[in-house]
Amino acid sequence: MNLSVLELEIPCLVVGGGPAGFGAASAALRGGCETIVADRHGFLGGMGTAAGLSCYLNHLGVDVDLSSPVYRSFRQQLIDMKSHYYDAHTQADYYEPEVCKLGMEQAILKAGGKLLYHSILSNVYREKDLWVAEFLSKGSRVRIRCRYLIDATGDADPSAMAGAGLFHGNQSSGATQPMTMVVQMGGFDPQAWAASGRRLIEGRYVAEGDQYAAQVSLARSAGEWSIPRENVALFWSMPHDPSRITVNGTRISGLSSCNAMETTRAEVEGRRQAQELVAFFRKYIPGFENVYLYQTGPQVGVRESRRIVGRYTLTEDDVRSARIPESSVMLCAYPIDVHSTEGTGTQYEDNGSIYGIPWECQLPVDLENVAAAGRCISATHEAAGSFRVMPTCMGLGEAAGTAAALAWKNKDTLQSIAGADIRHEMDRAHAAAGNLIPSTQFSFGSHIPAQI
Ligand SMILES: Cc1cc2nc3c(=O)[nH]c(=O)nc-3n(C[C@H](O)[C@H](O)[C@H](O)COP(=O)(O)OP(=O)(O)OC[C@H]3O[C@@H](n4cnc5c(N)ncnc54)[C@H](O)[C@@H]3O)c2cc1C
Repeated sequence: MNLSVLELEIPCLVVGGGPAGFGAASAALRGGCETIVADRHGFLGGMGTAAGLSCYLNHLGVDVDLSSPVYRSFRQQLIDMKSHYYDAHTQADYYEPEVCKLGMEQAILKAGGKLLYHSILSNVYREKDLWVAEFLSKGSRVRIRCRYLIDATGDADPSAMAGAGLFHGNQSSGATQPMTMVVQMGGFDPQAWAASGRRLIEGRYVAEGDQYAAQVSLARSAGEWSIPRENVALFWSMPHDPSRITVNGTRISGLSSCNAMETTRAEVEGRRQAQELVAFFRKYIPGFENVYLYQTGPQVGVRESRRIVGRYTLTEDDVRSARIPESSVMLCAYPIDVHSTEGTGTQYEDNGSIYGIPWECQLPVDLENVAAAGRCISATHEAAGSFRVMPTCMGLGEAAGTAAALAWKNKDTLQSIAGADIRHEMDRAHAAAGNLIPSTQFSFGSHIPAQI
């Protein structure tokens, strides 16, 4: 039996409903461009829900909040839904994934957007001046014709199918940052933790990073630790229930999220490491004596895979030199944070620089009306290690959606929209919400640097 085909036509299609896809759809809808968001999962949020990473990290540059209007409004939504706390020490907004799913989809539907869940992209091709995207969905195939195609899949799937040039991980070796199975534990005792002299936020919550190297070393000598990490990365309490803790602490190297067999191995290895991590916390860390494995995410966390080859490629030199070209659509202050592609170790460079991400990084060379958003924009391995945090990805999505709305209004193409015009639209949205406008605090250079 052949699957039936459901046909749709819409100005803007966003493939991928993670932070970038949510930002893109919200901005396109805000600008009056009808939009549908498609995702392979049955909910929005991307790594922030599917992998259980309930931590929006570091969007502050010096004292300026660099986050985009959509991010700020969504953060307020999480606060209103009583599912949020902020920690200045780790510079992060923490939230409940379930509330994030609900909040994001309510926001999209309220703005008049459409959702398509349980649909994995299977093909992209050109038909006259439209893009056609085909999905393998539960019970049918879905074919969507659109003018603007926004690739927010993290893995650059639509761009790859549309014929874009691609990087995979490190340009020279193809190696990527490791994947991580995020682990949620129940049964933590915050008071026992505090009694051991450790910090509690608001008298309730725990949020700590890069800790317990000595205990990891002991556990490794005892044959209890095989994870290729020398310490535990970030762990934090959940807002609704401080006895639940999320840990970013496993590490799975050498596998690609663009290969189903390799991702399967990563899921299996991630769950094996999750057991080890829970046993480690129970034995070595005060307050965790009675913890148990509460859940792993529906999917393993992916830091890096494919990125488009764009009209400009952001480099580590741009990040280190704090360049802010005129066509920048987002500002970022997050350090270069690259987990070793093999074995232990992390490159972490925090020189306090604030840099701009030019619009040209989101436009694949030679493709019309396609924009990438989030972690699959054009960048080197090291530069991607910086802008990959979710608030910045949401802002890059917002830039792409803003461009789609401008192009739709002016019957134009995405590549003919100037980065500065996108930024000015986003500034207008900031002003309408009564926000201090981050771009007014910095000077913008005249051009993106020449590239060979
Ligand atoms: C272990 C780990 C820890 C991290 N820690 C933090 C942190 O503490 N704070 C922080 O801010 N950031 C953190 N990050 C980075 C951050 O989570 C990601 O870089 C960010 O989520 C990227 O956003 P995105 O929207 O580009 O992609 P994603 O979040 O990956 O979303 C992509 C979406 O596209 C969908 N999709 C993919 N392919 C298809 C397809 N073919 N068809 C249909 N749908 C598809 C996916 O289901 C997903 O919903 C971490 C990442 C990892 C892996």
